[in-house]
Amino acid sequence: MYKITLIPGDGIGPEIAGATRECVDALGLPITWDIQDAGEEAIKKYGTPLPEVLLDSIKKNKVCLKGPITTPIGKGYRSINVSLRKSLNLYVCLRPFKSFQGVRSKYQNIDLVVVRENSEDLYSGIEFEKGGEDTLKLIDFIEKVKKGKILIDSGISIKPISTSASEKITRFAFEYCRKNNRKKVTAVHKANIMKFSDGVFLEAARRISREYPDLEYEERIVDNMCMQLVQKPEKYEVMVLPNLYGDIISDLCAGLIGGLGMAAGANIGEDCSIFEPTHGSAPKYQGKNKVNPSAMILAAVLMLEYLGETKASRRLERALAEVVKEGKSVTYDLKEEGDLLVVGTKEMGEAIIKKLKV
Ligand code: NAD
Repeated sequence: MYKITLIPGDGIGPEIAGATRECVDALGLPITWDIQDAGEEAIKKYGTPLPEVLLDSIKKNKVCLKGPITTPIGKGYRSINVSLRKSLNLYVCLRPFKSFQGVRSKYQNIDLVVVRENSEDLYSGIEFEKGGEDTLKLIDFIEKVKKGKILIDSGISIKPISTSASEKITRFAFEYCRKNNRKKVTAVHKANIMKFSDGVFLEAARRISREYPDLEYEERIVDNMCMQLVQKPEKYEVMVLPNLYGDIISDLCAGLIGGLGMAAGANIGEDCSIFEPTHGSAPKYQGKNKVNPSAMILAAVLMLEYLGETKASRRLERALAEVVKEGKSVTYDLKEEGDLLVVGTKEMGEAIIKKLKV
């Protein structure tokens, strides 16, 4: 019996979460859902966007399927997604990118996996505001210790990269590679310029790679990696990256498979994990039964695989792939512009359930 925390999220979240839940339920596994609010819904109920009851539920159940959550721009609370990753120490962001026939894309047969470090780098949130007292002190200190001159009208973001976090993420990438019968890990960096941060990441990746002599290991500088992925994506399999490059390369890979509508991700820690679509809450489509539920269904596919329910995971992925390939019961984004023969979120979910029953 599995008890799984389900966060429907906001915007289009509840609609895609509803369709996903129905698809997973149709697999007939012993799953009960512990439904929890976050973001706007949680503020209405608990006065906070990230209530303790939600964190307790994930800590207890260990596995969470999550819809997108809106982050207010410029004011209000900080990203719930970032807070969740930090509070639960979810140090891995795992994103597989696979081409599905029937999705409009310039590329076919893409099969790439991004393993992104999720806890440090320029996303550590340690920032010094332009003109602030601490910022000016820091600028002064840097000049005093002869590290260089920073213009006084600068803002500063800190980029910490540790040996321990870099070793953990590269070990995860190699283990993933082995478990999934893949052959090669590519470490992506800019250590030629950032010797004391990316250099630490690269040294750790090299050290860990020596523990896996059965797997191929190679390195790419991030700018070259971008070009290589556009020119010859078939040469790569599993990529391991520090946080910022991982974020950027993930979107590049989403572009290769036809956009964010088919991209899912897992945030994995030692104690618990959260599975979610890569796209956001698309507020303009809220309540319109319009958007594609595929990314969240693919998040459920990843979750089932993680739970060891490999057969069910493959069944769900196959059913989704068939519906997308047939192109009859799919949402607007999977059709040519102006094609009126589109269905809604709910109907696409129902078509996938029908395939599961065949
Ligand atoms: P978005 O991904 O929500 O939407 C951008 C556009 O992509 C939409 O207008 C729509 O045209 C399309 N789109 C997105 N999902 C789709 C789907 N399932 N089917 C069809 N089309 C889809 O990006 P945004 O507008 O930049 O962000 C909206 C909100 O979501 C923001 O508050 C942002 O912070 C938040 N967000 C949350 C997460 C998360 O919860 N993990 C991730 C990204 C953005």
